Amino acid sequence: MSIIATNIATNIATNTVTSGATMRRDFADRDELIAYVRQEFPTAAQIDDTVFPVRGGRSAAEAALSHIDPTAYAATRNRLTGAVTRLSPYLRHGVLSLAEVRDAALRIAQPSQTAAKLINELGWRDYFRRVYGMLGDAIWRDQEQYKTGWSASDYADELPDDIIASETGLACIDAFSHDLRKTGYLHNHARMWLAAYVVHFRRVKWQVGARWFLMHLLDGDPASNNLSWQWVASTFSHKPYIFNRENLEKYTDGAYCRGCPLKGRCDFEGSYAHITQRLFPHPVSSDNTQADVALRSTRKDDKPALSAARLAKPVIWVHGDNLNPHSPAFTRFPGASAVWVWDDALLGRTHISLKRIVFLYECLLELPVLIRRGNVASEVLRFAAEQGADGVVTVESPAPGFAALLRQLEQRMPIAVLPEPPFVEEPAALDLRRFTRYWRKVERSAMTPTRQPAAL
Ligand SMILES: Cc1cc2nc3c(=O)[nH]c(=O)nc-3n(C[C@H](O)[C@H](O)[C@H](O)COP(=O)(O)OP(=O)(O)OC[C@H]3O[C@@H](n4cnc5c(N)ncnc54)[C@H](O)[C@@H]3O)c2cc1C
Repeated sequence: MSIIATNIATNIATNTVTSGATMRRDFADRDELIAYVRQEFPTAAQIDDTVFPVRGGRSAAEAALSHIDPTAYAATRNRLTGAVTRLSPYLRHGVLSLAEVRDAALRIAQPSQTAAKLINELGWRDYFRRVYGMLGDAIWRDQEQYKTGWSASDYADELPDDIIASETGLACIDAFSHDLRKTGYLHNHARMWLAAYVVHFRRVKWQVGARWFLMHLLDGDPASNNLSWQWVASTFSHKPYIFNRENLEKYTDGAYCRGCPLKGRCDFEGSYAHITQRLFPHPVSSDNTQADVALRSTRKDDKPALSAARLAKPVIWVHGDNLNPHSPAFTRFPGASAVWVWDDALLGRTHISLKRIVFLYECLLELPVLIRRGNVASEVLRFAAEQGADGVVTVESPAPGFAALLRQLEQRMPIAVLPEPPFVEEPAALDLRRFTRYWRKVERSAMTPTRQPAAL
């Protein structure tokens, strides 16, 4: 059993907060908040106790948004020191919407067309979210067979301890593993290299690596994370993603290789052809494997299920995909009382680290919301009853757990689900089997700024 799995197994029962209790909002400073979270979520602290300076919340998100440089981004985004935005934790939790970031990018970029690369990357997030909305929990299953010549059973079920502990001896991999754990952020290229190392160089199932990332990444999101891991693994792409030392050195300016004890004899030496031959002696052709993926979506015209206009005094249920004081729910019902519920069952299953909980807590502290903990459906209903509400309003989410909760709530109370501000105009039908097919259909609309706030 790996270090993480052992710790979790022995500590899973130790979270101490009383279910249903209202949690604190009054903290003198960040240290006091962190101490409180550490005390209330000991399992999370056990996974990793570090908290990074990056703060959650709308003010931090707006500050980060004001610093984006879409033109420099296009030229440098592949480099570890490039002008990337670091907006992902805010986008992941809906503190900022994709439409908002796109609009800002088009405003800032001179000429505005130089924002195209950044908007294309935002498109990846939108694409993965849509695929997640269709796949649900199947996002944890291989979407296609591996094109590596190995079958799923050839891949290990556990993450080797030396990778988790940053002790592989490879300066780059150890630094990425360390940064993941300590900062909750990795540059996209570092994610790709680390994932390729785990899946291809150590032959570990992508699901194992994906779980590890979700424990630590402040932007941890089953949609972008799992599908990116599958893309690297080749279970959602036409070939495995690998890299060599030359590639890593180029985009890191040699920062890791320079002082690496394994320089000149590491796993990544040699040409792509040489490494491919070594890792995948019997590769399969991708031609007949895409058929496994049935991802064609048609526009859903039936949202929201219940019109918000039918509710006179609803409460707002805030969840982890929409931690935005300007969300459609807060905008539509400015005076409504709102509740957030830490989902004990979900926390027990997902094992997120302390820094992720602190980030979320900071987002909550900038929202007019009561913070509770326990069973989400029961707590939302209890809150609605306490407030004398005639229904619940929330904002859409692609998560399968969200759909399950809606079903529970709907049996007891009217519930209206508001759409997020749209990133692209919804086409009548979308082929989601590959990003290129999606992008061909939506690119023009993605490059068009929002004309007016989304109708609520
Ligand atoms: C193995 C692996 C795991 C990943 N896990 C996650 C995850 O859990 N959550 C997550 O948000 N992203 C994930 N990504 C995608 C991407 O690496 C991050 O979104 C990006 O690096 C975040 O940094 P940034 O905000 O500085 O990105 P920027 O490069 O500045 O991009 C701006 C925004 O565009 C979106 N974006 C950019 N690249 C991608 C991409 N390849 N896929 C999806 N969206 C993208 C993000 O919302 C990002 O914030 C993963 C990628 C890989 C290869």
